[in-house]
Amino acid sequence: MSSTLEVLRRRLTGTLALPGEPRYAQLTTGFNVAVVATPAAVVEARDPQDVAEAVRFAGENGLAVAVQATGHGIAETFDGALLVHTGRLDECVVHADGWARVGAGVRWQQVLDAAAPHGLAALCGSAPGVGVVGYTTGGGLGPVGRTYGWASDRVRAVELVTGDGVLRRVTAEQEPDLFWAVRGGKGAVGIVTAMEFDLVRQPTLYAGALYFAGADAATVLHRWRDWSATLPREATTSVALLQLPPLPGVPEPLAGKFTVAVRFAWTGDDQEGQAVLAPMRAAATPLIDAVQTIPYAALGMIHADPVDPMPVHEATDLLRELPAEAIDALLAVSGPDAGSPQVIVELRQLGGALAEPAAQPSALDHRDAAYSLITIGVLVPSVAGAVAPHSEQVRAALKPWATGGALPNLGAGTGAERLARSYDAPTLARLTEVARRFDPAGVLRAGQVPVRTR
Ligand SMILES: Cc1cc2nc3c(=O)[nH]c(=O)nc-3n(C[C@H](O)[C@H](O)[C@H](O)COP(=O)(O)OP(=O)(O)OC[C@H]3O[C@@H](n4cnc5c(N)ncnc54)[C@H](O)[C@@H]3O)c2cc1C
Repeated sequence: MSSTLEVLRRRLTGTLALPGEPRYAQLTTGFNVAVVATPAAVVEARDPQDVAEAVRFAGENGLAVAVQATGHGIAETFDGALLVHTGRLDECVVHADGWARVGAGVRWQQVLDAAAPHGLAALCGSAPGVGVVGYTTGGGLGPVGRTYGWASDRVRAVELVTGDGVLRRVTAEQEPDLFWAVRGGKGAVGIVTAMEFDLVRQPTLYAGALYFAGADAATVLHRWRDWSATLPREATTSVALLQLPPLPGVPEPLAGKFTVAVRFAWTGDDQEGQAVLAPMRAAATPLIDAVQTIPYAALGMIHADPVDPMPVHEATDLLRELPAEAIDALLAVSGPDAGSPQVIVELRQLGGALAEPAAQPSALDHRDAAYSLITIGVLVPSVAGAVAPHSEQVRAALKPWATGGALPNLGAGTGAERLARSYDAPTLARLTEVARRFDPAGVLRAGQVPVRTR
């Protein structure tokens, strides 16, 4: 195979990295280092033609093709596949009249920084180091989601290479089936090379987090449940049970302790936001009160997600409701006295604009869910064996209120069971049909939809 791969190397503007070469190790290291990628080779694409060359070459030589940008969502090893790395597709242009065009390698912070001088804001997620394309193709649930909805609903156009090796421009009018599928279907129908999407006018936010002591967890969670149910759509909020390790960058009051974070982002007037947050501020005495007026481009501080690669395990569910009994059940299994091995157990409130249908229909389901649950454990030796079984205990505790669904972006996973949770049956059937139509040989392994035949 390696002499055949040399043929591909000559066809590329970008580079081909083979196992054993230094660049191969760099390109295959993702954010979650618990998953070690072992593709047959990595194409570091310099332009969309490189992506098309890689897909065509794979088709000719019986290989599958996978894609990676930042590695934040790595869920499988890509064993034996050709991995297209999009990191060098780094075009990022913000238009003052409210939209952006980015290459598939761009991370959110770059868009936030380019949009800020225009008073514009991009609908990124909690961690601005995540890739724009991987996030948006999975829906995209961000810290201002209840005001502005899903990132995927703001997409105007996508350029992608389908499994037949053709580079296509996809809009609501041009290739409507692909346009439907790529917004929610992740990489099921093609490898995206560029994306165009609308921005919103939001120069600042009243936002941040209140951190409370673990001893106040029950009071804070119950107050949060009551309070979040009353919020207008200018407010987006989540609550997290945290056990952050004593590492550099973790504030002293939180390091090595069980704490509770209430995240809050208010897109309206600051004074009004303060008034809305007041009952939550008064729930207990915060260890840290970090809710303030911030430039929108600083919204990564709301969740303060980790930025360095680490070995993690995630599990996720969607909840249809959150009665007081659900809070008690959550505390029993992951509260301060439960011996939980998770670093984060988080509930995000959905609803508001997230519950509305997209102006252009898309493959993103589950808009009627009320809350999203995620557990994140870091697989350090002291707890590595306990994290996954405990995450199942958390899921079991909340099962009476779970919808059975999951958001495509959260709790990365592959396989039929995961697919059935990510998509309703009609959506999955249509996604599979569209994927097969544009990839008859089953070359793509770029998404979570099982169209692969190799
Ligand atoms: C710290 C952290 C915080 C997060 N916060 C949020 C959040 O607030 N909201 C949210 O919705 N999600 C969140 N996520 C999940 C994240 O959106 C997904 O993992 C997303 O897939 C990451 O995309 P990536 O390109 O950065 O990662 P990668 O691992 O490079 O890609 C992950 C997947 O995205 C798809 N993909 C990537 N590039 C392409 C492409 N060019 N063409 C087609 N498909 C592609 C593929 O299916 C690929 O397997 C978070 C993840 C992390 C690790």
